Amino acid sequence: MSAGPKVIALEEHFTSPKLRALRGEKDSPVQRRLDDLGALRIAEMDEAGIDLQVISENNPATQNLDAESAVRLARESNDVLYEAVRAHPDRFAGFATLPTPDPKAAADELERAVVKLGFKGAMIMGLTHGRFMDDKQFRPIFERAAALDVPLYIHPTPPHPAVQDAYFKEYPYLAVAPLGFTLETLTHTFRLIVGGVFDDYPNLKIIVGHLGETAPFLLWRTNDILGERHKMPRAFADYYRTHFWLTTSGAFSDAALACSIAEMGVERIMFSVDWPFMKNRAGRDWLDAAPLSHHNRALIFGGNAAKLLKL
Ligand code: MN
Repeated sequence: MSAGPKVIALEEHFTSPKLRALRGEKDSPVQRRLDDLGALRIAEMDEAGIDLQVISENNPATQNLDAESAVRLARESNDVLYEAVRAHPDRFAGFATLPTPDPKAAADELERAVVKLGFKGAMIMGLTHGRFMDDKQFRPIFERAAALDVPLYIHPTPPHPAVQDAYFKEYPYLAVAPLGFTLETLTHTFRLIVGGVFDDYPNLKIIVGHLGETAPFLLWRTNDILGERHKMPRAFADYYRTHFWLTTSGAFSDAALACSIAEMGVERIMFSVDWPFMKNRAGRDWLDAAPLSHHNRALIFGGNAAKLLKL
């Protein structure tokens, strides 16, 4: 591998002061870490041997705000993150927050963040006022990401309220990370394919956490059955393998990793933690011990991310 950071983590969060205040977040050990863009964050990176965090605003960022507030606060969030990256350029990089309630402004903010602030792409926090990103109104964001040749990271958010009510009313703890996040994000990624987003933007690159939110396990079946029922220019699995990269955020499982590598190829898998919701050391220790060759482990720890993000 070339010089540069060897261990790169891509789904690592922070909270900008104005969004934190708006949401009325209470103090907690997790919130204290989300607030930190300096010593505490770097100490926990060092403790686990993580060279570089690609940092993003915590869910739901600005995606449920009115359009005017979203535009203003996304810009402020990106400016806060920019200052942190500027202070620690060897340790931090940024994924932009986008004011998706105003898609044209979101495309412009993506361009500002990439061209002026040096960010590596953007993170999409699931639904925007109940809408998935295959909705035609969001095409300007994909168009700009494709033109800039930067990836968009599709991150989980709680499912639509109607889904939460129908599926999880009796078991609200299932509606978030244990299951609901996965259903929401898996649905989001599959909708991008059947919604024709990749036919419109053939070089668009999408990152998904949690080892694809079960997509590798489902790929054969979805591809097999969808081919008969929904005609597309290419096979479903071909879209997935061409346009998607997966991270290990919050999914430290040898079995899930093996399935992901088998379906996607090792060059599509990238290390991440989902700090501070998961512990850096847990992610690092797991991947250090996973049954991989030295070469493949290095690709997952940082080689693949360095190439995709042009680090
Ligand atoms: Mn996350």
